[in-house]
Amino acid sequence: MDDRHEARQRGVSRRTYVKMAGAGGAVGIAGLAGCTVDTGGDGGGDGGGGDGGGDGGGEKTIVAGTAPGFPPFEMKQNNELVGFDIDLLEAVVSETDYTLSEWRTFEFNSLIPALQNDRIDVIAAAMTINEERKRTISFSNPYYNADQAILVREGGDFQPQSLDDLSGRKVGAQEGTTGAGLVESRLIEEGKLEQANYNAYGNYVLAVEDLENGNIDAVVLDVPVAQTFAEERNVEVATVVETGERYGFGVRQNDDDLRSALNSGLQAVRDSGKYEEIRNKWFGSESEAGTETAGNETAGNETASGNETTTQS
Ligand code: GLN
Repeated sequence: MDDRHEARQRGVSRRTYVKMAGAGGAVGIAGLAGCTVDTGGDGGGDGGGGDGGGDGGGEKTIVAGTAPGFPPFEMKQNNELVGFDIDLLEAVVSETDYTLSEWRTFEFNSLIPALQNDRIDVIAAAMTINEERKRTISFSNPYYNADQAILVREGGDFQPQSLDDLSGRKVGAQEGTTGAGLVESRLIEEGKLEQANYNAYGNYVLAVEDLENGNIDAVVLDVPVAQTFAEERNVEVATVVETGERYGFGVRQNDDDLRSALNSGLQAVRDSGKYEEIRNKWFGSESEAGTETAGNETAGNETASGNETTTQS
């Protein structure tokens, strides 16, 4: 089955999203505005005190944070927040005794501070589990795998086959991401790229626009998102840098109860087939590589000093 067919039927199209984004960075800017999207799950009660066993509804209500502009994991469509992470977290939470009351949106870089300041209780933002982040927050078990891609202009002369090939070029990434970390650790710190040739963006949508416009020559970002941009914009994946990253939901370090609830919920949506349904909706059924992680909480490869391989697409 064609995932986008189903997506269209539901009024949810990656193509529409990316085109809107191209009309002037509206998505990226929406991400800055911190606007709030209701899940519509208010309903006047917290799910019934009967099942709650005297939990006191308010206590078990959580607010989720994400950073739209990262399709197909999270993006704005017609001012509505949609994507794989949105569907997955909602499905996971519905398997727990927590209630998800609201989504709040931030720039990616502001999500961990927002979690620490109690503005949100959980991060669902294709966030890679790594040691650096684990010094300040905790993660659920992994729910998706990814490597990094080098995105270039479609059909352009510049076709890098490795990170090193970015030497002397203009490179962009989104602030605070593992992609940005790769540029910093493997290129700038090694003297292969001048700081002046590196643009850090608040949002990858803006980086891809600058790539299309010729202001930069390459963008380093997570493979599934690079592939989505490649489908919809005049850009293509030149090569993949294998970093072996795994995404997890972020929670506060002392929030063990929520973390284990999310882990149980994640297992429940895998067992019920709901995970696969959501994956197929956003990625199509051929895309299993990103999802085989089942249980353990292995950290992603922080420094991402992996091999480069050329993609076939
Ligand atoms: N997976 C990458 C990271 O964790 C990018 C996440 C994102 O931009 N939403 O840094």
